[in-house]
Amino acid sequence: MQRALEIARKGDGLTGNNPLVGCVIVHEGAIVAEGYHHEYGGPHAEVEAVRRLPHHLDARQTTVYVTLEPCAHFGKTPPCAELLRDRGFKKVVVATLDPNPLVAGKGVKILQEAGIHVEVGILQAEAQRLNRRFWVNQTEKRAYLIAKWAESANGWMGVNQGKSVPISGSEAKSFVHQLRAKNPAIMVGVQTWENDRPQLNTRLVEGPSPAIWVIDPEFRGHYPEGKDLQIFTKKSTSDPRAIVLEEFSPRAMLEELWKQKITSVLLEGGKRTLEQFWDAGMVDEIAQIISPLPLLAGKDHVAAPSIEFTPNEEQRLGADVLKCWKR
Ligand SMILES: [Zn+2]
Repeated sequence: MQRALEIARKGDGLTGNNPLVGCVIVHEGAIVAEGYHHEYGGPHAEVEAVRRLPHHLDARQTTVYVTLEPCAHFGKTPPCAELLRDRGFKKVVVATLDPNPLVAGKGVKILQEAGIHVEVGILQAEAQRLNRRFWVNQTEKRAYLIAKWAESANGWMGVNQGKSVPISGSEAKSFVHQLRAKNPAIMVGVQTWENDRPQLNTRLVEGPSPAIWVIDPEFRGHYPEGKDLQIFTKKSTSDPRAIVLEEFSPRAMLEELWKQKITSVLLEGGKRTLEQFWDAGMVDEIAQIISPLPLLAGKDHVAAPSIEFTPNEEQRLGADVLKCWKR
């Protein structure tokens, strides 16, 4: 199963809304075939592995290890549970059931009803962590949220006379642009929007620019006509880009994004907005960039968000330090 998890990761960034999945087939203690889900719309891991099973081997003598319950429904490909059943494998070991409660257990049932021995739960936590985004989407029916901010050595986010002051170096900037390219949407509070009409794009790396969402409960921001963005608000307005939420909460916003098929969103501030999402328990991941330089006290600098977390990972980005946390 360890090997199946390892090869599943090879599909990282290529499987779109689909989870990463790996599959290995074992005969007399040796791996004889393996496969993983390469790309969105492509064959599932089980199909890839079964294709590679040497012809002289009898499937009835082999065990299949797969990191996610084999699917039981017709999607872009026929159900993998039926494929494994029809090939007559002796045993199927599954790391974790499907997170979607509507389909969980259905794949396992198809196998068990055919008399195949099924074991579930081997390296389950690792398998779920491998697809945290997918897990949050499927179990909580909301977009996954990554909170990102940059602060100076003395704990300020730079704002001066209503304009953002850049505080991180070029490596950190290109990291942020990569992060943006990996997420279909960016969200900011109205104050951040007004401060610098942020050029929330990915101009330093290749990849699509994410959709922009502004959180503006009182609808007081200025939104140039023709600018492609959406606004979460409480006020009813004639602006067709506004989404009026009756219950104006971090969770409601993330649920709305998910309804619009947005699987993950990068929250880029400011301070209050970041804290609101954190306090509501809606932050799944943090990317905090710390500059080695202090920011001289400017009259309208704002303190960095007071969010206490223990980083799981730290790395240098030029002179800056990146601290990452994942739930
Ligand atoms: Zn499948």
